[in-house]
Amino acid sequence: MSGLRVQIYAFLPNETEFDQKSLFLCHKNRLTMNETDLSPITTFIFDFDGVMTDGTVFCDFEGHPLRATNVKDGYAIQLATKLGYNVAVISGAVCPSTIVRMNSLGVTDVFTGIPDKVLKLKEYMKEKGLKPEEIVFMGDDIPDLNVMKEVGLPACPADAVPEVKAISKFISERPGGKGAVRDLIERTLKVQGKWMTAEAYAW
Ligand SMILES: [Mg+2]
Repeated sequence: MSGLRVQIYAFLPNETEFDQKSLFLCHKNRLTMNETDLSPITTFIFDFDGVMTDGTVFCDFEGHPLRATNVKDGYAIQLATKLGYNVAVISGAVCPSTIVRMNSLGVTDVFTGIPDKVLKLKEYMKEKGLKPEEIVFMGDDIPDLNVMKEVGLPACPADAVPEVKAISKFISERPGGKGAVRDLIERTLKVQGKWMTAEAYAW
């Protein structure tokens, strides 16, 4: 059997490629902190369910929805508002507790029950005088696709649906409700030299 050559082919999932430099398999759209330009960002806009939460919705006996948010995400959000960033939520769901939670973190631009997120984004941009390149929108599911295409930096948690991952320039390594929001804000503040400044030590 001398001279027999065996060729081995590896078939990778569509969304995966081999990074020659790092010798790791990488999601095609997953960008490292160095590759993702976070320096122009002045404005963080988030979907709520699946981004600020893990997507779970509990209902009490009267049918009121209850959602769990993440305290480490919360720290980063209140810090961003304190540092003067625009922070907003645009959510399709109607949930008074979303407004209460975000208000407690200093976020007053909380838009819930929004059927057309693109329209609300455009209103918000006009009101604040914002350009697309200074905005990051983090979403996780198909209702976020169109609005994400309108901003300079579409972003998503690690467990976003494939359609959202496919258009995202920043894909956090953390899932929704478990640090994706913190990851995005922390990386942005680090790139802009605003992480661990005097404002960091108080809530
Ligand atoms: Mg969502």
